[in-house]
Amino acid sequence: MIQIDALPAFSDNYIWLLQDTAKRRCAVVDPGDAAPVRQWLRDHPQWTLEDILVTHHHQDHVGGVEALRNETGARVSGPANERIPARDLALAGGRQVTVLGLTFDVFAVPGHTLGHIAFYTAQTPTPVLFSGDTLFAAGCGRLFEGTPEQMHASLERLAALPGNTQVYCAHEYTMSNLRFAQAVEPENTDIAARLAEVTRLRGENRITLPSTIALERLTNPFIRTSETSVKQKVDEREDAALDSPNAVFAALRRWKDRF
Ligand code: ZN
Ligand code: FE
Repeated sequence: MIQIDALPAFSDNYIWLLQDTAKRRCAVVDPGDAAPVRQWLRDHPQWTLEDILVTHHHQDHVGGVEALRNETGARVSGPANERIPARDLALAGGRQVTVLGLTFDVFAVPGHTLGHIAFYTAQTPTPVLFSGDTLFAAGCGRLFEGTPEQMHASLERLAALPGNTQVYCAHEYTMSNLRFAQAVEPENTDIAARLAEVTRLRGENRITLPSTIALERLTNPFIRTSETSVKQKVDEREDAALDSPNAVFAALRRWKDRF
């Protein structure tokens, strides 16, 4: 049994902590800051940090990697096509990596960055996805390096995973993402219900993650580009008839950048 908890970092990052309680070993995903992980290990002196997984090269995801590796000897696995500090294992899409006895599939999901990867396993009771800054709860990452086409394809691939997949993304952006989602689809009752729930959680300073792929399909405009309601709204704003889901996605992402 693997337990997954969030270690908050900076203002809105989550460092995901995977715990194998039976063997008292753990792994972290995207430790942008070493301090929260170091503190957890201090509070749990019997435990060893075995693995550090990295989704992409941005500082808020890799800032703590080198220090943690030096302090613990944990293995660092990250994208093959990016510069990752102290990386031991370079992972390209299609590869697998075994962490705490679980085999994860590595997906190449370019868009936010060109080398961005995601980690997926179905060896847990419900499938688990670490999506980094690609698929967010009700949103997606900005296009810093890739094209809209690349990001859209990456998101569509993640959206095709089993509906019960638990989505662990790297930021607490759910509330602002849902406000945008509601602007895109004012009539969508799933979005309205989720916004109410997330508003309540954030009001109590609670985390809104993990999400699920099923909930994302209902409420995330960036994977709903084929829905008539989304397409019509974007056409209206662009004053044009956008003919492809890719074009709808690109227009949505531009709109969100200024929202
Ligand atoms: Zn990033
Ligand atoms: Fe980030």
